Amino acid sequence: MALSGLDIYKLLPGGVKPPHPKANCKECGFPTCLAFAMKLAAKQAELSQCKYVSDEAKAKLSAAAAPPIRLITLSADGRKVEVGNEVVLFRHEKTFYHPAALLVRVPDTLSAGEIATLAKAVTDYKVDYVGMALHLDGLAVEAVSGDASKFAAAVAAARGACNLPLVLVTEDPAIMAAGLPKATGGAPLLCAATASNWEAMAKLAKDAKAPLVVRGATLGELAELTEKLAAAGVEDLVLDPTARSFNGSLVALTEIRRLALKKAFRQLGYPVITFPYLGASDPAMEELLAGQQVAKYAGFVVLSGFDPATVYPLLVLRANLFTDPQKPIQVEPGVFPINKPNADSPVLVTTNFSITYFAVANEMESSGLPAWLLVADAEGMSVLTAWAAGKFDAEKIAKTVKNTGIAEKISHRKVVIPGHVAVLMGELEEELPGWQIKVGPREAVDLPRYLKTAW
Ligand code: SF4
Repeated sequence: MALSGLDIYKLLPGGVKPPHPKANCKECGFPTCLAFAMKLAAKQAELSQCKYVSDEAKAKLSAAAAPPIRLITLSADGRKVEVGNEVVLFRHEKTFYHPAALLVRVPDTLSAGEIATLAKAVTDYKVDYVGMALHLDGLAVEAVSGDASKFAAAVAAARGACNLPLVLVTEDPAIMAAGLPKATGGAPLLCAATASNWEAMAKLAKDAKAPLVVRGATLGELAELTEKLAAAGVEDLVLDPTARSFNGSLVALTEIRRLALKKAFRQLGYPVITFPYLGASDPAMEELLAGQQVAKYAGFVVLSGFDPATVYPLLVLRANLFTDPQKPIQVEPGVFPINKPNADSPVLVTTNFSITYFAVANEMESSGLPAWLLVADAEGMSVLTAWAAGKFDAEKIAKTVKNTGIAEKISHRKVVIPGHVAVLMGELEEELPGWQIKVGPREAVDLPRYLKTAW
């Protein structure tokens, strides 16, 4: 059972009698032991942040320190997917830690050649998004045929064609037993144990040291099954609440997350797997439902097939949700040459917020026009936000011009500032005597036209 902040405090250096000499030392990053205890109770801090907790207290605190949603790891040769271990309902409360894994369904009715082609396409698909490499996470091989040998052959074909983590999908323990040995190189996720097969599935999962999906029509049924499976020694579990519709899925996944985080209801403290194509009438609806589930609160999302047009927006949505909101995505400040600039090429100033940088860089690259992109350190904020916060002012821009050595690369003395900060022009002229300050467009998309007409 979860401990309250006060219970935890009584075990910390400041709360024990007599207090530890290091009580309230602030080394954990909090002003007092009590403040740290409150954060621990809210799952917003790690016990390891305090070096002075006694072993006895550590043992007692382990339940409070344990993540409310179990971390599940799927691995294959060279690839690993981790989901779970989340501690908040809303991203802005802290951050989401482990992105929902996106997997592609592989029915065992496909030929070995078709499976190899699909596996290669999934493996090779990569998106470069504001400096991050986005990719899919695995394959879910499903026993559609009802034939154990066909399933085994499909698993072998998938494994032979790629090193992606696998999910094996069948409720028939005999078919699962046939496919399991073919999933070499790492334990797959077995899907699924139900009220009628859980003992046989538990044995397979235990023998293979593999995580197991638990499938139930209600949260009560799921909780009952996870309790039985944990008692049988299978602790790495994933929930399939079988609520497939938009509304049903949202309600079930939200209730599971709330019960795990707010009520410390251990029986539902596991990641969730979803199959959006089972609740959607066409590919567009599947995409929307998958997006909803990535946002709230799936751990694994199995897509019906591989289509870059479907996968791209999901990967980008996921990347935006699972980055730390307290750490803006940044690029290194400095000078970036675009399209082989020379001494006559324009100098464009922007901030080091990744999305701002890539918006400008992409527009310029696709225009074919050469330029020097001068990126100021604005603590990862966009132009207007940084200006409003005093992180992108005339002094900062002048410092960037002076420190980056851009003057040695060019023959002119002109610099273009973003239109949103036109107000800085006068001040910047004072900071950079001898330089001509030009005001560019507000939007990156207008840069090529501006450079052709106004540079
Ligand atoms: S590190 Fe934090 S919790 Fe530990 S003794 Fe110091 S103030 Fe207290």
